[in-house]
Amino acid sequence: MRPATPELLTMLTELIATPSVSCTAAHWDQSNLAVIEKLEQWLSGLGFHTEIMPLPGHPEKANLIATLGSGPGGLVLAGHTDTVPFNAERWSSDPFKLTEKNNRFYGLGTCDMKGFFPIAIEAARKFVDQTLQHPLIILATADEESSMNGARALAEAGRPKARYAVIGEPTSLRPIYMHKGIMMEQVKIKGTAGHSSDPALGASALEAMHSVLGQLISFRQELQRDYQNSDFKVSVPTLNLGCIHGGDNPNRICGACELEFDLRPLPGMSADLLREAISQRLQPLENQFGVSISTSPLFPEVRPFSNDKHSELVRSAEKLTGYQAEAVAFGTEAPFMQDLGMDTIVMGPGSIDQAHQPDEYLAFDQIKPTVAVLEQLIARYCF
Ligand SMILES: [Zn+2]
Repeated sequence: MRPATPELLTMLTELIATPSVSCTAAHWDQSNLAVIEKLEQWLSGLGFHTEIMPLPGHPEKANLIATLGSGPGGLVLAGHTDTVPFNAERWSSDPFKLTEKNNRFYGLGTCDMKGFFPIAIEAARKFVDQTLQHPLIILATADEESSMNGARALAEAGRPKARYAVIGEPTSLRPIYMHKGIMMEQVKIKGTAGHSSDPALGASALEAMHSVLGQLISFRQELQRDYQNSDFKVSVPTLNLGCIHGGDNPNRICGACELEFDLRPLPGMSADLLREAISQRLQPLENQFGVSISTSPLFPEVRPFSNDKHSELVRSAEKLTGYQAEAVAFGTEAPFMQDLGMDTIVMGPGSIDQAHQPDEYLAFDQIKPTVAVLEQLIARYCF
Protein backbone atom coordinates (compact mmCIF):
# COMPACT_ATOMS: atom_id res chain seq x y z
CA MET A 1 0.00 0.00 0.00
CA ARG A 2 1.17 3.50 -0.74
CA PRO A 3 1.78 5.87 2.17
CA ALA A 4 -1.00 8.41 2.78
CA THR A 5 -0.62 11.74 0.99
CA PRO A 6 0.73 14.16 3.62
CA GLU A 7 -0.81 17.41 4.86
CA LEU A 8 -0.26 20.68 3.00
CA LEU A 9 2.43 21.94 5.35
CA THR A 10 4.43 18.70 5.12
CA MET A 11 4.25 18.77 1.34
CA LEU A 12 5.38 22.40 1.23
CA THR A 13 8.28 21.69 3.61
CA GLU A 14 9.42 18.74 1.52
CA LEU A 15 9.19 20.54 -1.83
CA ILE A 16 11.19 23.51 -0.56
CA ALA A 17 13.81 21.11 0.87
CA THR A 18 14.26 19.48 -2.54
CA PRO A 19 16.56 21.65 -4.71
CA SER A 20 15.54 21.96 -8.38
CA VAL A 21 17.33 25.00 -9.78
CA SER A 22 17.20 25.35 -13.54
CA CYS A 23 19.61 27.63 -15.30
CA THR A 24 21.21 28.12 -18.69
CA ALA A 25 24.56 28.15 -16.83
CA ALA A 26 25.50 24.45 -16.48
CA HIS A 27 27.12 24.80 -13.04
CA TRP A 28 23.77 25.92 -11.58
CA ASP A 29 21.48 23.57 -13.44
CA GLN A 30 19.96 20.69 -11.45
CA SER A 31 17.62 17.77 -12.05
CA ASN A 32 13.95 18.23 -11.12
CA LEU A 33 13.26 14.49 -10.84
CA ALA A 34 13.17 14.44 -7.04
CA VAL A 35 10.37 17.03 -7.05
CA ILE A 36 8.50 15.19 -9.80
CA GLU A 37 8.76 11.90 -7.89
CA LYS A 38 7.35 13.42 -4.71
CA LEU A 39 4.40 14.93 -6.58
CA GLU A 40 3.86 11.63 -8.39
CA GLN A 41 3.69 9.74 -5.08
CA TRP A 42 1.33 12.18 -3.44
CA LEU A 43 -1.01 12.41 -6.43
CA SER A 44 -1.14 8.69 -7.16
CA GLY A 45 -1.82 8.23 -3.43
CA LEU A 46 -4.98 10.29 -3.97
CA GLY A 47 -6.04 8.15 -6.93
CA PHE A 48 -4.67 10.26 -9.78
CA HIS A 49 -3.38 8.42 -12.84
CA THR A 50 0.18 9.68 -13.17
CA GLU A 51 2.62 9.82 -16.02
CA ILE A 52 6.21 11.01 -15.79
CA MET A 53 7.39 12.37 -19.13
CA PRO A 54 11.19 12.74 -19.40
CA LEU A 55 12.32 15.61 -21.64
CA PRO A 56 13.80 14.44 -24.94
CA GLY A 57 17.59 14.57 -24.65
CA HIS A 58 17.43 15.49 -20.93
CA PRO A 59 16.86 12.30 -18.91
CA GLU A 60 17.45 14.23 -15.66
CA LYS A 61 14.45 16.50 -16.33
CA ALA A 62 10.78 15.54 -16.55
CA ASN A 63 7.21 16.77 -16.62
CA LEU A 64 4.40 15.12 -14.67
CA ILE A 65 0.85 14.76 -15.95
CA ALA A 66 -1.49 13.60 -13.16
CA THR A 67 -5.12 13.00 -14.11
CA LEU A 68 -8.17 12.39 -11.94
CA GLY A 69 -11.26 11.19 -13.78
CA SER A 70 -11.72 11.12 -17.53
CA GLY A 71 -13.97 12.41 -20.26
CA PRO A 72 -13.97 15.43 -22.52
CA GLY A 73 -13.19 18.97 -21.37
CA GLY A 74 -11.73 19.36 -17.91
CA LEU A 75 -9.36 21.61 -16.04
CA VAL A 76 -5.57 21.78 -15.88
CA LEU A 77 -3.85 23.25 -12.82
CA ALA A 78 -0.29 23.86 -13.97
CA GLY A 79 2.95 24.86 -12.32
CA HIS A 80 6.69 24.64 -12.87
CA THR A 81 8.85 22.53 -10.59
CA ASP A 82 12.09 24.47 -11.02
CA THR A 83 13.38 27.57 -9.27
CA VAL A 84 15.87 30.23 -10.27
CA PRO A 85 19.41 30.19 -8.80
CA PHE A 86 19.90 31.95 -5.45
CA ASN A 87 22.44 33.86 -3.33
CA ALA A 88 22.44 31.95 -0.03
CA GLU A 89 24.55 34.65 1.66
CA ARG A 90 21.81 37.23 1.05
CA TRP A 91 19.08 35.10 2.62
CA SER A 92 18.17 35.61 6.29
CA SER A 93 17.30 31.91 6.54
CA ASP A 94 18.25 28.69 4.74
CA PRO A 95 16.55 28.91 1.32
CA PHE A 96 15.88 25.14 1.45
CA LYS A 97 14.34 25.12 4.93
CA LEU A 98 10.74 26.26 5.11
CA THR A 99 10.82 28.99 7.75
CA GLU A 100 7.74 30.54 9.38
CA LYS A 101 8.06 34.19 10.36
CA ASN A 102 5.78 37.27 10.28
CA ASN A 103 2.84 35.16 9.05
CA ARG A 104 4.85 34.10 6.04
CA PHE A 105 6.54 30.96 4.79
CA TYR A 106 10.07 31.76 3.63
CA GLY A 107 11.99 29.50 1.24
CA LEU A 108 13.23 29.24 -2.35
CA GLY A 109 10.21 28.49 -4.53
CA THR A 110 7.54 29.27 -1.90
CA CYS A 111 5.76 31.72 -4.22
CA ASP A 112 7.53 30.98 -7.54
CA MET A 113 6.12 28.43 -7.52
CA LYS A 114 6.50 25.12 -5.75
CA GLY A 115 4.03 26.41 -3.16
CA PHE A 116 1.24 26.14 -5.72
CA PHE A 117 1.39 22.33 -5.79
CA PRO A 118 0.45 21.56 -2.16
CA ILE A 119 -2.36 24.12 -2.52
CA ALA A 120 -3.67 22.54 -5.74
CA ILE A 121 -3.42 19.07 -4.18
CA GLU A 122 -5.28 20.31 -1.11
CA ALA A 123 -8.08 21.61 -3.37
CA ALA A 124 -8.17 18.32 -5.32
CA ARG A 125 -8.31 16.23 -2.13
CA LYS A 126 -11.90 17.29 -1.54
CA PHE A 127 -13.04 15.58 -4.76
CA VAL A 128 -11.10 12.31 -4.83
CA ASP A 129 -14.07 10.18 -3.71
CA GLN A 130 -16.44 11.68 -6.27
CA THR A 131 -17.03 10.76 -9.89
CA LEU A 132 -15.75 13.53 -12.14
CA GLN A 133 -17.54 14.15 -15.44
CA HIS A 134 -14.49 15.93 -16.83
CA PRO A 135 -10.87 15.32 -15.86
CA LEU A 136 -8.87 17.31 -13.35
CA ILE A 137 -5.24 17.42 -14.43
CA ILE A 138 -2.38 18.58 -12.25
CA LEU A 139 0.55 19.41 -14.49
CA ALA A 140 4.11 19.92 -13.26
CA THR A 141 6.67 21.14 -15.78
CA ALA A 142 10.46 21.28 -16.00
CA ASP A 143 12.80 24.16 -16.84
CA GLU A 144 10.32 27.03 -16.99
CA GLU A 145 12.89 29.43 -15.57
CA SER A 146 15.61 28.58 -18.11
CA SER A 147 14.36 27.31 -21.46
CA MET A 148 10.65 26.41 -21.14
CA ASN A 149 11.68 23.05 -22.58
CA GLY A 150 9.13 21.27 -20.41
CA ALA A 151 6.25 23.25 -21.89
CA ARG A 152 7.74 22.92 -25.37
CA ALA A 153 7.83 19.11 -25.03
CA LEU A 154 4.18 19.11 -23.92
CA ALA A 155 3.09 21.31 -26.82
CA GLU A 156 4.91 19.00 -29.22
CA ALA A 157 3.27 15.93 -27.70
CA GLY A 158 -0.12 17.68 -27.86
CA ARG A 159 -0.70 17.13 -24.15
CA PRO A 160 -2.45 17.56 -21.86
CA LYS A 161 -5.86 18.06 -23.40
CA ALA A 162 -8.55 19.89 -21.47
CA ARG A 163 -10.81 22.88 -21.93
CA TYR A 164 -9.43 25.19 -19.24
CA ALA A 165 -5.98 25.85 -17.77
CA VAL A 166 -4.87 27.82 -14.73
CA ILE A 167 -1.15 28.47 -14.37
CA GLY A 168 -0.49 29.13 -10.70
CA GLU A 169 2.31 31.67 -11.00
CA PRO A 170 2.32 34.28 -8.23
CA THR A 171 -0.25 36.95 -9.12
CA SER A 172 -1.67 37.60 -5.62
CA LEU A 173 -4.63 35.55 -6.84
CA ARG A 174 -5.50 38.08 -9.54
CA PRO A 175 -6.51 36.57 -12.87
CA ILE A 176 -4.11 37.47 -15.69
CA TYR A 177 -5.33 37.19 -19.26
CA MET A 178 -2.41 38.77 -21.08
CA HIS A 179 1.34 39.23 -20.84
CA LYS A 180 4.16 40.55 -22.97
CA GLY A 181 6.76 38.36 -24.63
CA ILE A 182 10.45 38.34 -23.72
CA MET A 183 13.34 38.30 -26.16
CA MET A 184 16.99 38.62 -25.18
CA GLU A 185 19.31 39.06 -28.11
CA GLN A 186 22.97 39.55 -28.81
CA VAL A 187 24.73 41.57 -31.51
CA LYS A 188 28.36 40.67 -32.25
CA ILE A 189 30.51 42.93 -34.41
CA LYS A 190 33.83 41.74 -35.72
CA GLY A 191 36.09 44.44 -37.13
CA THR A 192 39.85 44.58 -37.61
CA ALA A 193 42.24 45.80 -34.92
CA GLY A 194 45.09 48.13 -35.85
CA HIS A 195 47.22 51.05 -34.73
CA SER A 196 45.12 54.03 -33.75
CA SER A 197 47.38 56.48 -35.62
CA ASP A 198 46.09 55.39 -39.02
CA PRO A 199 42.38 54.54 -39.44
CA ALA A 200 43.19 52.73 -42.69
CA LEU A 201 44.97 50.02 -40.67
CA GLY A 202 41.74 48.58 -39.26
CA ALA A 203 37.96 48.60 -39.14
CA SER A 204 36.48 49.80 -35.88
CA ALA A 205 33.84 47.54 -34.37
CA LEU A 206 33.14 50.26 -31.83
CA GLU A 207 32.24 52.85 -34.47
CA ALA A 208 30.03 50.30 -36.21
CA MET A 209 28.38 49.65 -32.83
CA HIS A 210 27.63 53.33 -32.51
CA SER A 211 25.49 53.03 -35.63
CA VAL A 212 23.97 49.73 -34.45
CA LEU A 213 22.83 51.49 -31.26
CA GLY A 214 21.37 54.32 -33.33
CA GLN A 215 19.51 51.84 -35.52
CA LEU A 216 18.09 49.97 -32.53
CA ILE A 217 16.93 53.18 -30.89
CA SER A 218 15.23 54.36 -34.04
CA PHE A 219 13.68 50.87 -34.48
CA ARG A 220 12.32 51.21 -30.94
CA GLN A 221 10.74 54.56 -31.80
CA GLU A 222 9.13 52.98 -34.83
CA LEU A 223 7.78 50.04 -32.80
CA GLN A 224 6.43 52.31 -30.09
CA ARG A 225 4.74 54.48 -32.68
CA ASP A 226 3.13 51.49 -34.42
CA TYR A 227 2.22 49.24 -31.46
CA GLN A 228 0.36 50.18 -28.30
CA ASN A 229 -1.87 48.33 -25.90
CA SER A 230 -3.27 50.43 -23.09
CA ASP A 231 -4.15 47.36 -20.98
CA PHE A 232 -0.46 47.19 -20.04
CA LYS A 233 1.05 49.52 -17.46
CA VAL A 234 3.83 50.17 -19.98
CA SER A 235 1.62 50.34 -23.03
CA VAL A 236 4.31 50.00 -25.72
CA PRO A 237 6.86 47.32 -26.63
CA THR A 238 10.15 48.06 -24.88
CA LEU A 239 13.72 47.63 -26.05
CA ASN A 240 16.44 47.94 -23.42
CA LEU A 241 20.11 48.18 -24.36
CA GLY A 242 21.40 46.10 -21.44
CA CYS A 243 25.15 45.71 -21.74
CA ILE A 244 28.04 46.31 -24.08
CA HIS A 245 31.60 45.00 -24.21
CA GLY A 246 34.31 45.97 -26.65
CA GLY A 247 37.83 47.19 -27.17
CA ASP A 248 40.82 47.20 -24.85
CA ASN A 249 43.05 50.25 -25.32
CA PRO A 250 42.70 53.84 -26.54
CA ASN A 251 45.54 53.45 -29.02
CA ARG A 252 44.08 50.39 -30.78
CA ILE A 253 41.33 50.30 -33.34
CA CYS A 254 38.60 48.26 -31.67
CA GLY A 255 38.46 44.79 -33.27
CA ALA A 256 35.37 43.35 -31.61
CA CYS A 257 32.30 44.63 -29.81
CA GLU A 258 29.22 42.91 -28.37
CA LEU A 259 25.85 44.17 -27.27
CA GLU A 260 22.99 42.46 -25.44
CA PHE A 261 19.48 43.84 -25.43
CA ASP A 262 16.03 42.89 -24.13
CA LEU A 263 12.91 43.33 -26.23
CA ARG A 264 9.39 42.89 -24.82
CA PRO A 265 6.87 42.53 -27.64
CA LEU A 266 3.14 43.02 -27.23
CA PRO A 267 0.66 40.26 -28.09
CA GLY A 268 0.36 40.06 -31.86
CA MET A 269 4.05 40.80 -32.50
CA SER A 270 6.20 37.99 -33.89
CA ALA A 271 9.73 37.37 -32.67
CA ASP A 272 10.82 36.11 -36.08
CA LEU A 273 9.54 39.23 -37.82
CA LEU A 274 11.22 41.44 -35.23
CA ARG A 275 14.54 39.66 -35.75
CA GLU A 276 14.17 40.00 -39.49
CA ALA A 277 13.47 43.73 -39.25
CA ILE A 278 16.51 44.22 -37.02
CA SER A 279 18.78 42.29 -39.40
CA GLN A 280 17.57 44.39 -42.30
CA ARG A 281 18.49 47.54 -40.44
CA LEU A 282 21.92 46.30 -39.38
CA GLN A 283 23.02 44.54 -42.52
CA PRO A 284 23.95 47.69 -44.55
CA LEU A 285 26.33 48.70 -41.75
CA GLU A 286 28.61 45.79 -42.62
CA ASN A 287 29.69 47.35 -45.89
CA GLN A 288 29.65 50.85 -44.56
CA PHE A 289 32.13 49.99 -41.77
CA GLY A 290 33.91 46.98 -43.26
CA VAL A 291 32.89 44.74 -40.37
CA SER A 292 30.79 41.62 -39.92
CA ILE A 293 27.66 41.82 -37.79
CA SER A 294 25.79 38.82 -36.45
CA THR A 295 22.70 38.74 -34.26
CA SER A 296 21.43 35.79 -32.25
CA PRO A 297 18.95 35.06 -29.45
CA LEU A 298 20.48 34.44 -26.00
CA PHE A 299 17.67 31.95 -25.35
CA PRO A 300 14.48 30.93 -27.16
CA GLU A 301 11.98 33.74 -26.73
CA VAL A 302 8.97 33.68 -24.43
CA ARG A 303 6.02 34.46 -26.62
CA PRO A 304 3.44 37.08 -25.69
CA PHE A 305 0.13 35.72 -24.41
CA SER A 306 -3.36 37.03 -24.72
CA ASN A 307 -6.67 35.38 -24.02
CA ASP A 308 -10.12 36.81 -24.66
CA LYS A 309 -10.67 39.30 -21.84
CA HIS A 310 -14.20 37.96 -21.44
CA SER A 311 -13.57 34.23 -21.83
CA GLU A 312 -15.54 31.79 -19.70
CA LEU A 313 -12.54 31.11 -17.43
CA VAL A 314 -11.56 34.78 -17.12
CA ARG A 315 -15.09 35.68 -16.05
CA SER A 316 -15.35 32.81 -13.55
CA ALA A 317 -12.00 33.73 -12.02
CA GLU A 318 -13.05 37.38 -11.76
CA LYS A 319 -16.25 36.40 -10.02
CA LEU A 320 -14.54 34.00 -7.61
CA THR A 321 -11.67 36.32 -6.65
CA GLY A 322 -13.41 39.68 -6.85
CA TYR A 323 -10.54 41.03 -8.96
CA GLN A 324 -10.74 42.28 -12.53
CA ALA A 325 -8.45 40.43 -14.93
CA GLU A 326 -5.17 42.20 -15.62
CA ALA A 327 -2.22 42.31 -18.00
CA VAL A 328 1.34 41.83 -16.66
CA ALA A 329 4.89 42.25 -17.88
CA PHE A 330 6.36 38.87 -16.90
CA GLY A 331 6.37 35.80 -19.14
CA THR A 332 4.85 32.37 -18.44
CA GLU A 333 4.06 29.03 -20.06
CA ALA A 334 0.57 30.31 -20.90
CA PRO A 335 1.11 30.55 -24.70
CA PHE A 336 1.99 26.84 -24.76
CA MET A 337 -1.21 25.91 -22.89
CA GLN A 338 -3.15 28.10 -25.28
CA ASP A 339 -1.55 26.30 -28.25
CA LEU A 340 -3.13 23.12 -26.87
CA GLY A 341 -6.53 24.75 -27.32
CA MET A 342 -7.25 25.65 -23.70
CA ASP A 343 -8.95 28.75 -22.30
CA THR A 344 -5.94 29.82 -20.20
CA ILE A 345 -5.28 32.25 -17.36
CA VAL A 346 -2.37 32.86 -15.01
CA MET A 347 -3.50 33.07 -11.39
CA GLY A 348 -1.81 31.91 -8.23
CA PRO A 349 -0.87 32.65 -4.63
CA GLY A 350 1.95 34.97 -3.57
CA SER A 351 3.33 38.04 -5.26
CA ILE A 352 5.72 38.31 -8.19
CA ASP A 353 7.40 41.09 -6.15
CA GLN A 354 8.86 38.37 -3.93
CA ALA A 355 9.95 36.08 -6.75
CA HIS A 356 13.53 35.72 -7.99
CA GLN A 357 15.09 37.32 -4.93
CA PRO A 358 16.47 36.56 -1.45
CA ASP A 359 13.91 35.91 1.32
CA GLU A 360 11.24 34.81 -1.14
CA TYR A 361 8.05 34.11 0.78
CA LEU A 362 4.43 33.07 0.57
CA ALA A 363 2.12 34.95 2.94
CA PHE A 364 -0.12 32.69 5.06
CA ASP A 365 -3.20 34.67 4.04
CA GLN A 366 -2.74 33.64 0.38
CA ILE A 367 -3.18 29.94 1.06
CA LYS A 368 -6.79 29.41 2.17
CA PRO A 369 -8.32 31.76 -0.43
CA THR A 370 -6.37 29.99 -3.19
CA VAL A 371 -7.53 26.56 -2.03
CA ALA A 372 -11.12 27.88 -1.97
CA VAL A 373 -10.93 29.41 -5.47
CA LEU A 374 -9.38 26.26 -6.94
CA GLU A 375 -12.04 24.08 -5.27
CA GLN A 376 -14.73 26.17 -6.89
CA LEU A 377 -13.06 26.00 -10.29
CA ILE A 378 -12.82 22.20 -9.99
CA ALA A 379 -16.48 22.00 -8.96
CA ARG A 380 -17.43 24.10 -11.95
CA TYR A 381 -15.33 22.52 -14.68
CA CYS A 382 -14.98 18.87 -13.64
CA PHE A 383 -18.63 18.06 -12.84
ZN1 LIG B 1 7.50 31.15 -12.05
